Amino acid sequence: MSSSNEWQVDILEAAQQCVYCGYCSVCPTFRELKWETYHPRGILEQIKMYFLETTKEELKGDISKSLFDSIFACTMCKACENICIADIPLLKIWEQVRQEAFKRGRWNPALLSIYNKVKDTQNIFGLPKEERVSWADLANMVMTKRTQRKASVAYFVGCQASYSGKMEGVAASVVKILRKARVDFTILGNEEWCCGSPVFLAGGYSVGKTFAKHNLEQFKKLGVKRVVTACAGCYRAFKIVYPRILGDKWDLEVLHISEFVAELLEQKKLKYKKTIKEKITFKDPCELVRHCGLIEPPREIIEKIPGIRYEDLPSNREEALCCGGGGLLKLNDEDLTRQVNSRLIEEIEYSEAEIVVNGCPTCLDTIQQGVKKKGLDVEVIDIAELVRRAIGE
Ligand code: SF4
Ligand code: SF4
Repeated sequence: MSSSNEWQVDILEAAQQCVYCGYCSVCPTFRELKWETYHPRGILEQIKMYFLETTKEELKGDISKSLFDSIFACTMCKACENICIADIPLLKIWEQVRQEAFKRGRWNPALLSIYNKVKDTQNIFGLPKEERVSWADLANMVMTKRTQRKASVAYFVGCQASYSGKMEGVAASVVKILRKARVDFTILGNEEWCCGSPVFLAGGYSVGKTFAKHNLEQFKKLGVKRVVTACAGCYRAFKIVYPRILGDKWDLEVLHISEFVAELLEQKKLKYKKTIKEKITFKDPCELVRHCGLIEPPREIIEKIPGIRYEDLPSNREEALCCGGGGLLKLNDEDLTRQVNSRLIEEIEYSEAEIVVNGCPTCLDTIQQGVKKKGLDVEVIDIAELVRRAIGE
């Protein structure tokens, strides 16, 4: 296939490296559906079957219904690549097959809907861009002076924390933290566009590029050097996808809020004042832990809270279970998302935690639904909300 971008791999060559060991049976989709076509090695087999005629110049062959269904039943959790003994770049393969499907116009209604919403309104909900800072009104915050001001730090709010009522506490908490630490920061306001993650996941890299370029231009215009986000999806887009797309032009430092809080605590710009007595656990979001290698900062900042009783979930760090909501699966197949999620909810129940902390809006929403369905008395909050409580704001 065309390999004009150096991050792309020859998918047929990569697929042929599989030694059928089956270690990737940890795949959350395969564990639920149990069909070989959904197994990572089964997807590789289909790729080999359909793309046998591949040349470096042109990817021939077909995206069969079976391959399309398998590739979009994947949560992009990266558990397969993490465990693969042949070091096959499975995520790049899955992404490229999605891109091929996109190029060939292989859509389903859910994908088409999210694609159109993001393309037309620059957010995943299809809501007016003028409402992007409405979360501040709901939180009784005035963000006028912070919006589009020049500053070296930018808080990138993300579509979910900007528009979803369920997430409104996340943006307000991040702002309270930054204000408390007297960080001079800006937000892009109505000029913040979706990071592009859903479009990239749907396979639309060329479309996503316009989002990356726009956000970069906005950051540059304001003199931004460091971008802080509380969304694992935005974080991954900025850390992994933007550098691929924009090359050296993307020279900004990107920090998850947990990394920034760790730094602020270290510099004594932020201090915990409150004791938190509930038993707490943390669900590592796939996009933070396996995609970006962000493991310790969330634990460090949680464990510093006075009185804290913290315990990891049984599956944690690189072995963390997937929440089931990633890779656009929640849009494509809600039942499968619930099935995958139920294993994580069992671990949460076993942990006897009273608060589950997270760092990803997709995980947060999926876990909240799972906990409610199971009838557990567990609070599910973002790490920024926990920090806000601990600093007494
Ligand atoms: S990324 Fe996750 S869901 Fe997708 S094939 Fe790999 S293990 Fe399965
Ligand atoms: S772990 Fe890697 S080599 Fe083993 S079956 Fe899975 S994809 Fe193939």
